Amino acid sequence: MSLRESCGVYGVYANSKNAFPLLYWGMLAQNHRGHQSHGFAILNERIESYTSLGLIPVLSESNLKNEVPLMSGRIGIGNVRYATSASSSLESLKNNAMPVIDSDGESTIALSFNGNVVNIRRLQNMLGIDPSLSDAHVICRMILKKIRETKSLIEASKYCMESIDGSFSIVGLTNKGELFAFKDPVGVKPLCYGCKKGVSAFSSESVGLDINDINLDHELNPGEMMIIAENRVERTQALPCKRKAFCAFEFAYFARPDSKFNHKYVYETRRDFGVNLARKYSDIASRCDVVISLPETANDAAYGFHEESGLKWDMLTRRHRYVSQRAFITGVEERSNVIYRKVNILKSKIKGKRLAVVDDSIVRGDTTRSVVKRLRAAGAEEVHLFITFPKIIGPCFYGIDMASYSELIGAWKTIEEITSELGADSVNYQPIEDYVAATGMRKDELCLGCVTGEYPTPLANEMAKKMKKYILEGGREDGRIYESC
Ligand code: SF4
Repeated sequence: MSLRESCGVYGVYANSKNAFPLLYWGMLAQNHRGHQSHGFAILNERIESYTSLGLIPVLSESNLKNEVPLMSGRIGIGNVRYATSASSSLESLKNNAMPVIDSDGESTIALSFNGNVVNIRRLQNMLGIDPSLSDAHVICRMILKKIRETKSLIEASKYCMESIDGSFSIVGLTNKGELFAFKDPVGVKPLCYGCKKGVSAFSSESVGLDINDINLDHELNPGEMMIIAENRVERTQALPCKRKAFCAFEFAYFARPDSKFNHKYVYETRRDFGVNLARKYSDIASRCDVVISLPETANDAAYGFHEESGLKWDMLTRRHRYVSQRAFITGVEERSNVIYRKVNILKSKIKGKRLAVVDDSIVRGDTTRSVVKRLRAAGAEEVHLFITFPKIIGPCFYGIDMASYSELIGAWKTIEEITSELGADSVNYQPIEDYVAATGMRKDELCLGCVTGEYPTPLANEMAKKMKKYILEGGREDGRIYESC
């Protein structure tokens, strides 16, 4: 399955050394969270920044200095981005690459953002911001406005939390030498804090801390604000958290398996997904000869499936390491070519086998359909799909690349219809309750909007219901739901 996350963020406050190497490695560990642009901002005499298109380059230190003309300073932030607001044209990607920087003459702010603003149009109008600019520009302007009025970063974060419907995990830097971070009041996106002697850091995922040998301290609470400044680490609950709504999809697909959420490695949760599927569908599993997975996010679930069912596990599909959808792909043909090239099938090992195929999710169905077709062509006798993420029935408003009903195969088709359309012998989704249990979180601590149709923020909920009704009455969607509603 091929979906894009909106962004990954990182921030470093180093007491006595250059923050840039830590920023570079912390962001490189999170390249999977955004591939359209990357960038860094560091406070020296003033805030300096560098942004560029594509993935963060992997270069030797000496070549890197030529490629990324940076930078020295003890405080900095970084970002990798995939656009879920504004256009994906090259010009727009350049203009909206992060960190974004804004100034009112007195205060200057650099901002790195992961999430999506649902009420973007209203806020752009209110602040007089060009609609071609992304939601990060809107948030940056809101923070500046409130700092001017109240002189308080905490009040500025509170203003964002009260005014924005959507998801946001933010790391920022001021020209006064403050590194700050805050999360939306339901905490959809991950953001953790860690420290070691003389260094404090924020990262979307804990792998960004691990790579710099920084100890994970805690996941920021929804509505929490932290400020790191000279001799000061401040932690404030800027807005009370009425409920948590952490994105459930992070566990199945987005996060790296070696990241930790809720004190558990993501790979352990994925392994438990596989155990659940093998238990729930033991009758179908017992018909199969071998369990395989679609690389790489379903590998751990396939292992759990094998452990529980006793079925032989074999790696009969392999991912081409350097082929990815992390490029500027627009057309349907290009997209299906990449899907084909991304996964290689070990054809001679497939012939005559009844396969249990574990995958993380079915969104549009095009990747799965293509793989099933190739497994059949290789001589598979039966193809049974076991899907760790429950059936997706609605779009995401919070920064995942599935922002309309019309693109979702699960929004309109029954499981039987999906099975037939994908050319499989059976499609077996993990039930929502089993999924939740494996995460170790409670159902009311997770966002499950795309699988239940109930979204954790009021405007998203209202838009989803309106749009579904509109489509059922014969209307047609026009792009991302939150930009067209
Ligand atoms: S709607 Fe789905 S993908 Fe989007 S934040 Fe919620 S659980 Fe995650």
